[in-house]
Amino acid sequence: MSKVDPTGDETSHRDALVAAAGAVAASRILSLSGHGNVSIRPGDGNVVYYTAAPSLRDFPPEAVVRLELSGRVLDGTLPPLSAAAVDMHLTVYRYRPDVHCVIHTHSPAATTFAVAGRPIRAWAEPLVIFGMDDGIPVVPYARRGTPAAAEHIRAALRPGLSAILLENHGVLTFHETVKQALHTAVLVEEAAQLGLGAAALGGPKDISG
Ligand SMILES: [Zn+2]
Repeated sequence: MSKVDPTGDETSHRDALVAAAGAVAASRILSLSGHGNVSIRPGDGNVVYYTAAPSLRDFPPEAVVRLELSGRVLDGTLPPLSAAAVDMHLTVYRYRPDVHCVIHTHSPAATTFAVAGRPIRAWAEPLVIFGMDDGIPVVPYARRGTPAAAEHIRAALRPGLSAILLENHGVLTFHETVKQALHTAVLVEEAAQLGLGAAALGGPKDISG
């Protein structure tokens, strides 16, 4: 499940995506609605598999859509709301060839920071251990699916970055494997929970030294 196997066939990629949707749902980072979407890009290919359903809970395998990086749908049905969201994923793949999995959620604590327009700083050690020393930046708001939304994400991408907050919207994590992208999403949500908790105690303290 964790590895986005470039040698697999279409069936194995579909199975990997359905398993990834289940793993995200099981991780308990989803918001009440269960909203979220996951995509994988096997190998260095031009093809992306995407979860075109409103929720990642009980994700139906028939809602897998296969499309090209250009956005051209190869097979499956992409409802308008899902079509607007898929652009975030494709933007990451276009500008980060090292990325093979993208996860989008409305994880409650992290999305609280996104709604407040506040970045998550590296105040919890796991963020530092897993390469998020600079914290999680906030990408300015633009309605999903618009050219501005894609441009804001593109402008934030830099080598090594694995998570961004989408202002007034949610969270986007991306990595080489499903396992790493999900682990990142869990760490971001945990750090956000800690930041909110620490706010009651005078605010989180940045790591020093
Ligand atoms: Zn969303």
